[in-house]
Amino acid sequence: MPKILIVEDEEKLARFIELELIHEGYETEKAFDGRTGLELARQQDFDLILLDIMLPGLNGMEVLRRLRQEKATPVILLTARDSVMDKVAGLDAGAMDYITKPFAIEELLARIRVSLKYRKAEAGDGATTASATAAGQAGTANSPASGVLRWRSLELDDSRHRVAWDGQEIVLTNREFLMLKTLLENRDIVLSRDTLLERVCGYDYMGETNIVDVYVRHLRAKIDEVYGVKMLQTIRGVGYVIRSE
Ligand code: CA
Repeated sequence: MPKILIVEDEEKLARFIELELIHEGYETEKAFDGRTGLELARQQDFDLILLDIMLPGLNGMEVLRRLRQEKATPVILLTARDSVMDKVAGLDAGAMDYITKPFAIEELLARIRVSLKYRKAEAGDGATTASATAAGQAGTANSPASGVLRWRSLELDDSRHRVAWDGQEIVLTNREFLMLKTLLENRDIVLSRDTLLERVCGYDYMGETNIVDVYVRHLRAKIDEVYGVKMLQTIRGVGYVIRSE
């Protein structure tokens, strides 16, 4: 029986979510502030954490950051804010998904099911298979078995999860890394925003597709602008591509 931690300071909302989850057959724990939530998340092994962002004590983003230093428990952020940047910050900090308040309980339950399913798939060798299939489907020959992808002086080492330019490390978030890897693996193939979104955020992701543009901006700021190149090309109305030299 999956065990879910609810970290939410609006006690009525926390209780309401708890009752619904128990009704669905989940086991639950609650915390009404960030510090307690973090302690529970550290001490026990939850299958999923529902984490409010605006919390007394430690806010949700801080809880998530600290938790990620120790554990990879999937997290769905509950946010009252509705700006894309906040969501990107949350996803970059290691959240799996987010839901904006107020939400319909059915929507939350659907996202919980997706997150738990994804976790189960990941527990196997899902990750490797998925990326191999992704590269295979797009018909690329650019993905060597060693997992090192190159473009000019750029080197992306998949096994070490490291990107460098001329040996100098470029620090990327998980999703920036995945985005770059997908584009490098599919060199010369224009990938649509939807395709990139699916590869980077997972196919069940239900947020906005303009998150792809935000990641591309981040990558350009960290690579193109720093090294004076035009690696990430926009194909207007279609998507993005990295071209061979
Ligand atoms: Ca709150």
